[in-house]
Amino acid sequence: MSIKAEYLWTDGSQPTAKLRSKTRILAPGTAADALPTWGFDGSSTGQAEGGSSDLVLTPVFSCPDPLRGGEHLLVLCEVHHVDGTPHPSNTRAALRAVAERHEGQEPLFGIEQEYTFFEGARPLGFPEGGFPAPQGGYYCGVGADEVFGRAVVEKHLDHCLAAGLGVSGINAEVMPGQWEFQIGPLAPLAVADHIWVARWLLFRTAEDFGISATLDPKPAKGDWNGAGAHTNFSTRAMREGYDAIVTACEALGAEGKPLEHVRAYGAGVQERLTGAHETAPWDEYSYGVSDRGASVRIPWQVEQEKKGYIEDRRPNANADPYVVTRLMVDTCCTALEK
Ligand code: ADP
Ligand code: MN
Ligand code: MN
Ligand code: MN
Ligand code: MN
Repeated sequence: MSIKAEYLWTDGSQPTAKLRSKTRILAPGTAADALPTWGFDGSSTGQAEGGSSDLVLTPVFSCPDPLRGGEHLLVLCEVHHVDGTPHPSNTRAALRAVAERHEGQEPLFGIEQEYTFFEGARPLGFPEGGFPAPQGGYYCGVGADEVFGRAVVEKHLDHCLAAGLGVSGINAEVMPGQWEFQIGPLAPLAVADHIWVARWLLFRTAEDFGISATLDPKPAKGDWNGAGAHTNFSTRAMREGYDAIVTACEALGAEGKPLEHVRAYGAGVQERLTGAHETAPWDEYSYGVSDRGASVRIPWQVEQEKKGYIEDRRPNANADPYVVTRLMVDTCCTALEK
């Protein structure tokens, strides 16, 4: 049977790239390492002018398509110009170079992707023309009065597992209709590739339920938690000793670094990092053990065992994992190799 290959890529939407995809029929038996490059109309995705609109899709990661089943595939792509150079929207290309440079330190990431379901104009679980009971009972809740969208969440988890993604857990979040899945620990390129494919599967799965999912970092104004993408990070040295943990935390706070990072951690990050709702103010860098009000948290087991990983709590749900992991590897691994 012919293979339906769904080619996925990130577009040129501003200020936050969106996922796009289209289907290509491949000959039966096409090997995953022989997937052809393809093209698309960049003038329809904010990536080119109409006069020279052709852009190239270069397959970089593929996995079974859990929705279509069988031999069908999801194919994540980088976007290139026809001359082979990376398109400016191709943030993966820059991560490739940085990850390769610091490969010897064996960096690993676990990303906690938060998101919010919407039905029409309201977060799922928000009553028409009003608000649900204040936050408190929803996080990791159970029951129809506390949890909204679980059928979609379970289906999405099954799809991630069937696709072979490195998903490590899910939970209901603090605001009604808000959820989280975690990907990792994985190497930088792998964690970011898996996040993008898992995001696509989330939107695609919810679509069949007539529900939309958003990565909006502040989907409900007022006293409701925002949505982040806490990024857990370690190198071999950090997994072996505490000095490296402290070095990484200090490196993230070095002159100029906090602003450089926060600026690249997703559109609207200042609106989310207010100092309330389990966040640190975006313009004040801090780190601490068990501190969910710090920019960077050292989990308590890590301080107890004197080794492990750190959690950068600042990235928004809508952050680009290629950009976040590149900055963290660059900043921390450069400091650690000294
Ligand atoms: P939280 O308590 O902040 O909600 P989670 O359990 O949601 O934490 O997420 C913790 C993440 O840390 C997981 O995605 C996991 O894969 C990741 N993680 C665990 N160990 C490491 C490590 N050594 N390096 C990087 N990430 C790690
Ligand atoms: Mn056409
Ligand atoms: Mn979590
Ligand atoms: Mn969370
Ligand atoms: Mn967390």
